[in-house]
Amino acid sequence: MQSALRLSSFGLRSKVARARAPRKISVVAKANRVQARSLNIQEFQSKILMERYGLTVQKFKVADTPAQAAAAAKELQAKELVVKAQILAGGRGKGTFSNGFQGGVHLCKTPEEASKLATSMLGYKLVTKQTIPGGVLVQKLMIAESINIKREVYVSIVMDRDSNGPVYVVSPKGGMDIEKVAEETPEAIFKEVIDITTGPKKAQLERLAKGLEFKAGKQMEDAVQQLDRLYKLFIGLDAVQVEVNPLAETPEGAIYCVDAKIGFDDNAIFRHEDVYEMRDLAEEDPREVEAQKYNLNYIAMDGNIGCMVNGAGLAMATMDIIKMNKGEPANFLDVGGSATPEAVTEAFKILTKDNQVKAILVNIFGGIMKCDTIATGIVTAAKTVKLSIPLIVRLAGTNVELGKKILQESGLTIITAEHLDDAAAKAVASLSKL
Ligand code: GDP
Ligand code: MG
Repeated sequence: MQSALRLSSFGLRSKVARARAPRKISVVAKANRVQARSLNIQEFQSKILMERYGLTVQKFKVADTPAQAAAAAKELQAKELVVKAQILAGGRGKGTFSNGFQGGVHLCKTPEEASKLATSMLGYKLVTKQTIPGGVLVQKLMIAESINIKREVYVSIVMDRDSNGPVYVVSPKGGMDIEKVAEETPEAIFKEVIDITTGPKKAQLERLAKGLEFKAGKQMEDAVQQLDRLYKLFIGLDAVQVEVNPLAETPEGAIYCVDAKIGFDDNAIFRHEDVYEMRDLAEEDPREVEAQKYNLNYIAMDGNIGCMVNGAGLAMATMDIIKMNKGEPANFLDVGGSATPEAVTEAFKILTKDNQVKAILVNIFGGIMKCDTIATGIVTAAKTVKLSIPLIVRLAGTNVELGKKILQESGLTIITAEHLDDAAAKAVASLSKL
């Protein structure tokens, strides 16, 4: 906890939090991973799944060129269309593209307009409140028939630790940041804790629909049905989060799921191969994709000191201490509790492929895996990748003396460190000698 607090003061927290937030995962990931990542999919993919569960979504097509956008617009034959950038982050409507174009969600009427919008969006990065600062490259657009919106509400279901099960969180104040609504008008948020063994009761769904200010009668029935189907999707797909913001009401009183975000529980991968096939590697850092193949918990960062650590807590502490010594970590990398020589070698490969990395700091606690085994792993790995940048190693734990001896006798130029602070200081100092 302490290191998490410190991270926040160094502005690292959001990047690390991304690793902890519902996210994407490799199908080959195994059970011994320290931190769970979960799959996120694009809006259009979420909507394909929502249609399967009978949720009401607008008719749509997907385009990755302006010509396809125009063709999609033509085929949809709608009076009005909405063109939406597909990235794994919300806040697109209010986002800005790297070419200065404003907004990742636009209404238009003709195929020509759709094509023009596509030209302004495709191939540019979209920066929103939820993306990394540089934004995310837009490679796909969703072209949908637009609906008239009279009112926007917020609906989500999350797996909640406090109540040990699913909870609906809804608000009639939709279309905006739910965090802001929660802060400024907490009375406008309604929750229903669901017993996972029975599912939502009719009375609960009706209370939610009422909280969302739907009118009694047909509209209330529709809302109850949509809420119920959303729960079926949540359970059926082993989701940890579904969020529809906005769930929109048309002037005629119809209800549509206009936006969609689903996060999945990676423990249930084996039940949903088809969903995991939707994983969009294009939007992931290739180094992170590679790391996941070897079960390494890796997140790329902007600094130049590559870190290789076992245990997520130690990895966070290592980043903290590098920062305290006025250095910049190039990554968060947890090779796992067992830190096998194979994992260490793969980790070295990933770190050394990054030209930004000018020194590597290894900080390993020999517990399950003894220090001498780890030292052998480090030596083999450093030789395999022909390491040419400073390597600073701090080992602690069982057989530490033997481990140090192996490093010293390896013939490699390894800077050994006594403790964590010493290691970080030596790593930072090694950069100035370059
Ligand atoms: P987000 O900005 O990433 O959350 O993307 P959304 O899908 O939520 O779209 C942002 C906003 O655009 C919504 O809150 C709506 O106000 C508006 N919007 C999206 N789709 C439509 C549509 O079909 N018709 C109209 N009139 N507005 C839309
Ligand atoms: Mg939205």
